[in-house]
Amino acid sequence: MSDYDHWQKIQNYAKLQPMKDQTLDTSIRYIKGVGEAREKLMGKLGMFTLRDLVGYFPRAYEDRTLFSKIADLQIGQTVCVQAMAAAQPKLSHIRKGLDIVKVRVVDESGSLEITFFNQAFIKDAIKQGESYIFYGRISGTLLRPEMTNPIFEVKQGDGGAASLLKQHPRPLASPTLTGRIMPIYPLTAKLSQKIISSAVRHGLNECGDELPDVLPGEITRHYELCKARYAYENIHFPEDFKALDIARRRLIFEELFVLVVAMRLMRERRVEQSGKRIKMPNFEHFYKNLHFTPTGAQKRAIIEATEDMSEGKPMNRLIQGDVGSGKTLVAAACAWNVWQAGLQVAFMAPTEILAKQHMNSLTKLLEPMGMRVGLLTGAMTAKAKREMYAKLSLGEIDLVIGTHALISEGVHFHDLGLVITDEQHRFGVAQRSLLTEKGDSPHVLVMSATPIPRTLALIIYGDLDVSTIDEMPPGRREIETHIVGEHHRKRVYGFIEKLVKQGRQVYIICPMVEEEEVKQGDGGAASLLKQHPRPLASPDEPSPCPLKSAKEFHKHLSTEIFPELSVKLVHGKMKPKEKDAAMNSFASGEADILVATTVVEVGVDVQNAALIIVENADRFGLSQLHQLRGRVGRGEYESHCILFNSGKSEASRERLEIMKSTNDGFKIAEKDLSMRGPGDFFGSRQHGLPELHIANFATDMLVLNQAQNAAADVLKKDPELKSPQNRDLADQIKRMFELNTDKMN
Ligand code: ADP
Ligand code: MG
Repeated sequence: MSDYDHWQKIQNYAKLQPMKDQTLDTSIRYIKGVGEAREKLMGKLGMFTLRDLVGYFPRAYEDRTLFSKIADLQIGQTVCVQAMAAAQPKLSHIRKGLDIVKVRVVDESGSLEITFFNQAFIKDAIKQGESYIFYGRISGTLLRPEMTNPIFEVKQGDGGAASLLKQHPRPLASPTLTGRIMPIYPLTAKLSQKIISSAVRHGLNECGDELPDVLPGEITRHYELCKARYAYENIHFPEDFKALDIARRRLIFEELFVLVVAMRLMRERRVEQSGKRIKMPNFEHFYKNLHFTPTGAQKRAIIEATEDMSEGKPMNRLIQGDVGSGKTLVAAACAWNVWQAGLQVAFMAPTEILAKQHMNSLTKLLEPMGMRVGLLTGAMTAKAKREMYAKLSLGEIDLVIGTHALISEGVHFHDLGLVITDEQHRFGVAQRSLLTEKGDSPHVLVMSATPIPRTLALIIYGDLDVSTIDEMPPGRREIETHIVGEHHRKRVYGFIEKLVKQGRQVYIICPMVEEEEVKQGDGGAASLLKQHPRPLASPDEPSPCPLKSAKEFHKHLSTEIFPELSVKLVHGKMKPKEKDAAMNSFASGEADILVATTVVEVGVDVQNAALIIVENADRFGLSQLHQLRGRVGRGEYESHCILFNSGKSEASRERLEIMKSTNDGFKIAEKDLSMRGPGDFFGSRQHGLPELHIANFATDMLVLNQAQNAAADVLKKDPELKSPQNRDLADQIKRMFELNTDKMN
């Protein structure tokens, strides 16, 4: 049975049983306070249904539980103060674009000066003689304490601060803003924390007890987990920190449990299948055609893969190897092997650029041996695509290289024997299986440059066998890495100039495409570095340095800094044609400098590039930086990597120091894992699995072990998740893979 059939089967179980949780599929438009306009905005954040809304977990929390009397205030403290407006607020218009509202507030212990910038409406919102709760940071002096731009609200009830803290009556009409632990959600433009938290509040009220409980009762009891209802309530609106911990543990367990069950189901399936038996070839002829000698590690991986293919089961193997370790050769050898057996090969790369690059190098290598190699990408004309479709179905192409255009409906193979996906973290499990659908249980080879510590590889790639290329081709030079700050910028520009004069080329990587992407209150770069919720975000954290955007920076460099050089721009929002043109002009050596986003992160091979500069390097994951660094040092030239650190903290510097200390991707991955923070490499779409919303493979190892045991128990009793008590679970797994299908690049 194919992957797809298998998932169909699971879907059918889910269908057979009555849908009890239809409420959860309600469009968020109907949630109080959302409506059509906000529905669109929330859609951008991945929220479409009530289910998505209640599953939109905060990325952090702010502790607003601390109350203080004015007399006890400490400078620098961030607290709630309950006080009465002693006078009517005063509005002064300082200059164009600067209004100030000042109001003096008092409690029985003292008085506090409050200032609001550019919020003129507050003049009428605060009324003399009324009591409010103000939450903000204390500045000024002990004798004259001040608060600037606090969050404030009318004091609710009359039990005073302490009771406000405890009672927290629920369900609430709309959540209070002070006196409690506040959820901080990832935002997008035009949506505020208030809008989201109030929508979530209404959403939770709407759900009542209909939240899906994918954990069987006995598992919940055995691992002492709270009920779904309690978990959802407290992950959004924690009663206190203990409740938050309990809620988190349950939701993390649940997420990992579902994932492990899904992976186990995939693996079981494989054992039942029969695959094409391809006899072990003699690779000497193949090796003779190379202009280099394969490393021991490459040979080992090739043998492992060809052994798989000779066994009568479909191969499902991951080739894991650091950037530049020579994974493409392993793919080429496998393709050659399958071709000798008279079968076709499909090779899928995540971007046009990579597909073309593979096309060039593999054509050079394999055509002289008699293989017919072709290209299929989305950017090709309809006519060219149709011609390729015809050749593929007639068997006139032996190896087709392409983007996810390969999984489009029109593609049919004469006899597909092997599917290769490169840089697999860009593809989802579901996409991989869509491609294997095109053949009759073809062999599957997956290549990944994200090195993953062994313990985790087993879990993450639970459905794959793993070969590791742990040896670099001889003669590679270390890339020298430097960490610099703004004050080094001039020198860096000087260095660029010097290298370009010597004929080398330079990459400059920016964290964003254009300016608008910086989202207020969102910490910026949120889409790039999806953070895991940290227990607490201190409101005192220094605000992040402005992020460089590729478009603006390209303009600045090409017109003001290097007007006499050829500076090109490439980013993910460009049309494929423009992207290609820019990439090609860099690859051909015509452009001196390429300003880019992380689109060049994987696999691009320009041997003349000897310097890569990463702007706002602290905003990237270490493994991602390692990938980027791998863009240089691919040829004969001494190469450098310069990381601009815009982070202010010691921790951010320490993290970057790791990049300096080693060039070994595995070591970096281990370090990355052991440190938490932005850019944790499991945080983003780096592993080709459904995105984790709350769990973290690094910090939740213990829960992961428990989830594995629990998954084994459940599947032992109900291997196909047929029993009614596992309906929610089967349903959830089905949904997880459906969602993942959309996540194409
Ligand atoms: P990656 O593992 O990052 O995909 P590639 O397959 O792109 O690495 O290989 C990187 C470069 O190293 C290519 O230019 C390739 O031709 C070269 N290469 C691969 N294997 C060897 C080898 N055994 N000896 C020398 N060069 C090699
Ligand atoms: Mg590669």
